[in-house]
Amino acid sequence: MATLVTGGAGYIGSHTVVELQQINQDVVILDNLSNSSKAVLKRIESITNKAVTFVEGDILDTELLHSLFKQYQFDSVIHFAGLKAVGESNEIPLHYYKNNVYGTLNLCEVMAQHSVKNLVFSSSATVYGDPETVPIKESFPTSATNPYGRSKLMVEEMLADLYRSDPSWNIALLRYFNPIGAHESGTIGEAPNGIPNNLMPYITQVAVGKLKQLSVFGNDYNTIDGTGVRDYIHVVDLAHGHLKALEKLNSQPGLVTYNLGTGQGYSVLQMINSFEKATGQAIPYQISARRAGDIAECYADPQFANQELNWTATKSLVEMMEDSWRWQQNNPNGYQ
Ligand code: NAD
Ligand code: UDP
Repeated sequence: MATLVTGGAGYIGSHTVVELQQINQDVVILDNLSNSSKAVLKRIESITNKAVTFVEGDILDTELLHSLFKQYQFDSVIHFAGLKAVGESNEIPLHYYKNNVYGTLNLCEVMAQHSVKNLVFSSSATVYGDPETVPIKESFPTSATNPYGRSKLMVEEMLADLYRSDPSWNIALLRYFNPIGAHESGTIGEAPNGIPNNLMPYITQVAVGKLKQLSVFGNDYNTIDGTGVRDYIHVVDLAHGHLKALEKLNSQPGLVTYNLGTGQGYSVLQMINSFEKATGQAIPYQISARRAGDIAECYADPQFANQELNWTATKSLVEMMEDSWRWQQNNPNGYQ
């Protein structure tokens, strides 16, 4: 039996494939490389000492999906494949809905036809919109403020309908908070195209000299120091959460939703400070205007996942900083 990992060449997917291989699970990666590089495959192999089975292709390609499900005995799918840039989703919303929503629909139809009904889906804390209070529990109301977030919400709702129509499905909706860090080997990590949108890769690219200074988007939020607060989680902790979710699906829980976060929020200034301390690199920054659509504070109550999955994020903020920096230093141009 094998696990199909869509988007397995990407940032979170590649780290999850490493952890799966390290517990001797057979994995097939399906990725169209729209936001990743083939180079990651060799890196995974050199960490795990195991061959990677990789298929270059698209989740929108129904024929290809059928042929994969015929060729391999999948018992579950971890579905990472998707587009994730909030700004871009405002510019090309239909592309986001087609890729993220229709792509998932297509995948589920093929899964159903081959009676593979265990699915782990990459959702996001963005489905909580601007929460009234923090920490955020899974039962909090959901909403979306941009097409990317709406695509995640639509998929969550579609999967809930699917489960209601056929309770033999087992589906884990994993709502990730803010993944950062990299594998401790420094050989795989996050490799954004162009100028990074997210805080952590921006900081490391300033440190390595690719970018001049960081803009801190607003210091007038109602937070500890006025800058935005997020729940940063080490990508390897997040990867472990997927292994635990797969285990959970084997106990046939039906449709389950978990927050994957640490439960601890840090502000932008705290992140800068922590990076500087952990690495000895100065991060020049300026305070600039708030970024449209940003919220003040977002951090998880991870207790439900802690209890139900027997999973807890264990890596410290210092480790996240050190690992992000090692990856960036070793790979100033990502996988190129
Ligand atoms: P990523 O872009 O590094 O990985 C996604 C992978 O999917 C890429 O390798 C890309 O080439 C592939 N892909 C995209 N569309 C595809 C398609 N139609 N067919 C086949 N492959 C396709 O992103 P990531 O950070 O690893 O995120 C993985 C998932 O987690 C995404 O669904 C994302 O929305 C979600 N998520 C990410 C974050 C985050 O901050 N990184 C937070 C919450 C949720
Ligand atoms: N942020 C910032 N400068 C940047 C990128 C991000 O000040 O160049 C802030 C952003 O306003 C937010 C936090 O850092 O408060 C995390 O932003 P990111 O885009 O990484 O995650 P998200 O906002 O999607 O949770």
